[in-house]
Amino acid sequence: MNITDDIKASYQLALDVRLKAHAPYSNFKVGSAVKFKGHDQIFVGCNVENASYGGCICAERNAILNSVATIGKSEIEYVVVVTQQEEPAVPCALCLQTFAEFYDPDVPVYLANLKEITKVVTFKELLPIPFNSFTA
Ligand code: ZN
Repeated sequence: MNITDDIKASYQLALDVRLKAHAPYSNFKVGSAVKFKGHDQIFVGCNVENASYGGCICAERNAILNSVATIGKSEIEYVVVVTQQEEPAVPCALCLQTFAEFYDPDVPVYLANLKEITKVVTFKELLPIPFNSFTA
């Protein structure tokens, strides 16, 4: 696993933003950092839960929605996800489907706990066949 200084810096951003998560219902705080090709800015997100549950948003979607509002649709270079679990947690299927609009299937997703990045997987490993009937 090749962890560059840029990815380490993104991991730190994800670790930091995770502390801002609003997770009073699950007590499962998540931080995410997303890098886009051709852009230096790293977009971060944390999970924000809501008493209605349906109004909750994951850290990963929080980050990508912020990026679209800021730089428009761009191609993902990599994603970092940090949770408190020792074993790395993967993005949920709803987040993967959202990401599917923005990634090449081979883009890496770095999964981390509070100490380090422990695993790297690709989007196509996580979501081999995304829903895409509107773009087919
Ligand atoms: Zn999610």
